[in-house]
Amino acid sequence: MTAEEAYEFLLKTSLESSYLGSLGELAAWDQRTYLPRGGQGHRAEQLATLARLLHERITDPRIGDCLAAVERTALVSDPDSPQAVNVREWRRDYDLATRIPERLAVDIARVTAEAESVWEQAKQADDWHRFEPYLAQVLDLQKEKAHALGYLEEPYDALLDRYERGETAATLEPLFRTLKDSLVQLLEKIEGSGRRTATPLLARSFDIESQKRFCRTVASALGYDLECGRIDVSAHPFTIGIGPGDVRITTRYNENQIARGLFGTLHEAGHAMYEQGLPREHWGTPRGQAVSLGIHESQSRLWENFVGRSRGFWSYVLPVAQAELPRLSDTDLDGFLLAINTVAPSLVRVEADEVTYNLHILLRFELELSLMRGELSVSAVPEAWRMKMREYLGIEPSSEAAGALQDVHWAAGLVGYFPTYTLGNVFAAALYAAADREIGPLEERFACGDFASLKEWLRTKIHEVGSTYSPRQLILRATGELASPKSLISYYETKYSELYHL
Ligand code: ZN
Repeated sequence: MTAEEAYEFLLKTSLESSYLGSLGELAAWDQRTYLPRGGQGHRAEQLATLARLLHERITDPRIGDCLAAVERTALVSDPDSPQAVNVREWRRDYDLATRIPERLAVDIARVTAEAESVWEQAKQADDWHRFEPYLAQVLDLQKEKAHALGYLEEPYDALLDRYERGETAATLEPLFRTLKDSLVQLLEKIEGSGRRTATPLLARSFDIESQKRFCRTVASALGYDLECGRIDVSAHPFTIGIGPGDVRITTRYNENQIARGLFGTLHEAGHAMYEQGLPREHWGTPRGQAVSLGIHESQSRLWENFVGRSRGFWSYVLPVAQAELPRLSDTDLDGFLLAINTVAPSLVRVEADEVTYNLHILLRFELELSLMRGELSVSAVPEAWRMKMREYLGIEPSSEAAGALQDVHWAAGLVGYFPTYTLGNVFAAALYAAADREIGPLEERFACGDFASLKEWLRTKIHEVGSTYSPRQLILRATGELASPKSLISYYETKYSELYHL
C-alpha cells in the first residue's frame, strides 16, 4: 500500500464517519428541541446504536495500518499542510479510542448514566450523601481512564488534555493563581465602591415575541448567517454544527429576564460564527474542525461579553432595542450599561457575572484536582466547597443544591472540563486586545454598526485555521503573544474602573 492509497482510505473513512456523525447531530438537535416526549426512548436507542457503529469504525485496525503507511512519508513532510494535520489528528483519535478497553468504555457509559439520574434526584432532595457513592465510582473510572490514556505528570492531565490539548495541571495552576489574586482584589474594590445598579430595568416584563425578533436582529447584525442557521428554543442553550450551511443555535426566553435570552443568543451566535467560518472544503476532516473547547468558548464569550456588554455596541444597539421593546424607551446608556455589567458575588455559576464567573471555575478546578490527587474525599466536598466560596466570594450556600450539587459535569464524568470556560475568557481577552490593536478602536466600529471587521479578523486568524495548530500556538500566531491572563485582567480593570468609578 502506497502512502497515497493509505491517505485515500483514511480520508474516505473520515468523511463517511462525519456524514454519519452529522446525522447523529441532527437527531440530537431534534431530541433537545421538538421531539415529542413519547419518542425519547426510541431516539436514545438510535443515538446509542450510531455511537456504537462510529466507535467500531474509529477503532478499525485498518486505520492503524494506514496511519503507519502514511506517517513519516513525503506526503506529510510539511507539518502545516492539510494532509499532515489530518494524519496527526487521526492518529491522536485512533490512539485515544483504542487505548480505552471496551469494558471500561461500557462501565463509564453505564455509571455516568446512573450517576446523572441520581444527581438529579439528590439535587432536588438537597442530599449530597445520596450522590456520594456514585461520584466515588465516577472518579474511580476516570482515574482508570487516565491510566489507560497515559500522562506524563499526573492522571488529571490525561483527562484535561482531551478537552484542551496541551494543558496540564502544571500549566493551569499558575494561571489561575494570578487570576485569583487580581479578581479577588477587583471584587473587593467594586463592592466597596457603593455604586449600585438599577437592575429592575432588566427585570421589567417584555413580550417574548418581541424579544425573539430583537435577538434575531442582533445575532444577524453581529454576523450569524441565518440563511445557514436557525434559532430555536431549548431548556439549555446550545450550538450544533450539522454541516456546511447548517449551524443551528438555541436559546431560552423569560418574560421578566430579558438579559437571559439576549446574552444566551449572543453567546451561542459566537459559537455558531466559529462553526460557520470553518473551511468548507475541509469539512469532515480534522483540518476543517474547531480545535478545542477553550478556543470555541473564546469565540462565544468574545461576542457575548467583550462585544455584547460594551459601550460601543450599546450606543448602536440601544435605539434598535428601544424600537422593538418600547418599555426600554426611558433608559439611558449609562444606566443600561451598569445594569448589564453588574458585578456581585452569587452562588450559582451559570448566573454569575463575567468577573466572579472565573472564581466559580477556579473553585471547581481546585476541588477536582484534589479529588483526582486523592487529597480530598468525596464526603468532604461540600465543606471544602463552602470554605472556598467564603474565601473567594465572601458568601456560602445554605443548601447543597446551590453548592456542590449545582452542576451536572462531575456526574457526567466531565472531569477536566471546567477549566476550558476560563481558558475561553483568557483566549478571548488576548484575541480582543490584538484585534483592537490591529483594526481598532473596535468600540468605535461597533458604535457605527460595524461588526463585520472583527468577524473577518477572527475568520482569518481563528476560524479558517481549523485544527492546524494547538490552541496555545493558535493564540500565539493570532496575537503575537503567549497566552496569559494579562489581557483578561487588564480588560476587567479598565472596564470596571470606568463603570464603578473606582
Ligand atoms: Zn459556550
